[in-house]
Amino acid sequence: MSDTSAARPVAVVTGASGGIGAATARRLAAEGFEVVLGARRVDRLEAIAREIDGRALPLDVTDDASVAAFAAQVPEVAVLVNNAGGALGTDQVVDADLDGWRWMFEANVLGVVRVTNALIDRLEASGDGRVVVIGSIAGFEIYPGGGGYIAAKHAVSAVTKTLRLELLGRPVRVTEIQPGMVETDFSRVRFGGDEAAAAKVYAGMTPLVADDIADVVAFVATRPWHVNIDEVVVRPRDQASARDVHRAG
Ligand code: NAP
Repeated sequence: MSDTSAARPVAVVTGASGGIGAATARRLAAEGFEVVLGARRVDRLEAIAREIDGRALPLDVTDDASVAAFAAQVPEVAVLVNNAGGALGTDQVVDADLDGWRWMFEANVLGVVRVTNALIDRLEASGDGRVVVIGSIAGFEIYPGGGGYIAAKHAVSAVTKTLRLELLGRPVRVTEIQPGMVETDFSRVRFGGDEAAAAKVYAGMTPLVADDIADVVAFVATRPWHVNIDEVVVRPRDQASARDVHRAG
């Protein structure tokens, strides 16, 4: 690594092997950060890390030991983007698949808590730490069939707000970004790899792309130290709420 790269502030992006996380890693690198990319699919991480002169490290945010091993390899960090997560299934509350719900809580909620707690001392030591959490409009809206994900993202939002209050007076800013529909692997994962079901989600409408959210992360992460962007809701023009989507035809 060159001398100039050693001077770059460090940004950690969880779930950086695809979708919003990969776009964010690329965008933060373009903004001058040395990006540490974490996720389970290390081959994908390594390809992106090579492209942006970053570092790829294995990370499973649902696993205490994995988070500890990851954090042990990150001596400095100024920006943490808690992005790893997702939805599983569309079961109704009365038919809840509790294994799926457990995963959603572990990945989305406890994952944010685990990784933030593992890195908070270094974020604070940077003198201007920034914690960016990728929540969802499911963090403040509800829709039928979204119960487990909605409950998890509501919890993410509550945890993020609490964290901001608790860190008041310390040099760490806390932001929640709440996207509407973004075309990534999100729906493929939610529908267990069913491509047709995933494609149907975006039929006749123009969703956001991962770069649209990466743009917002970059904006939030590059404000002057005294400015905290608390929350940002970002939706496609074709979406007015979780349940109101304009579709052509
Ligand atoms: P995606 O393309 O499926 O990406 C999800 C990322 O999370 C992948 O890189 C995946 O990497 C990682 N991940 C999943 N479980 C993980 C774990 N246990 N440990 C570490 N990494 C894990 O979906 P996306 O749309 O980019 O989702 C990113 C975030 O945006 C999620 O929190 C999601 O809830 C949120 N969001 C998405 C949308 C949307 O419409 N797409 C809307 C609102 C919010 P590995 O599989 O390699 O671990």
